[in-house]
Amino acid sequence: MALRPVLQFPDKRLRRTSEPIAGVTDEVRSLAEDMLDVMYDEPGIGLAAPQLGEAIRLIVVDTEWSEEDGEPSPLVAVNPEIVARDGKITWTEGCLSVPDFTADVERAERVTLQYTDLEGRPHTEDAEGLRAVCFQHEIDHLDGVLFIDRISRLKRSLYVQKRKKALRREEEDDDASAPGAGL
Ligand SMILES: [Zn+2]
Repeated sequence: MALRPVLQFPDKRLRRTSEPIAGVTDEVRSLAEDMLDVMYDEPGIGLAAPQLGEAIRLIVVDTEWSEEDGEPSPLVAVNPEIVARDGKITWTEGCLSVPDFTADVERAERVTLQYTDLEGRPHTEDAEGLRAVCFQHEIDHLDGVLFIDRISRLKRSLYVQKRKKALRREEEDDDASAPGAGL
């Protein structure tokens, strides 16, 4: 089974505002499956639909699972929304769409999340610490926001320069290995 590629900064599709999901169709269910496959394969603790190029309000999260032990306990949230937030916490974040970079981000320490599941049932969950951070990070994706938008301008521009350089290098490597080049 081929995994869908994760879009990476500076792909413009990561900047779109995602649309609410009017009804859970087979397409939504199959996208949720694809997102879980990618999240566990990377591995990551969360993924938002825009990271696979789909601008709809769907996220998957699993903050319990680890490669060494533990059963997967995935949360699939349709139209997730943070309805209450409290406290402050600083966490070192990374993102599958922002390669080779982590930075400290300040967020709410506790949040209340409302969403519906794939059967259309409404849920409310209180979360704190890593799980609260993860909910905020993934919902940011639905609004076209990346964690690098929440760090200092200086740190962000250093990363953007580094990333541009890495992309240029990838392009040069691609040229060198173009068909026929090594024959
Ligand atoms: Zn992310």
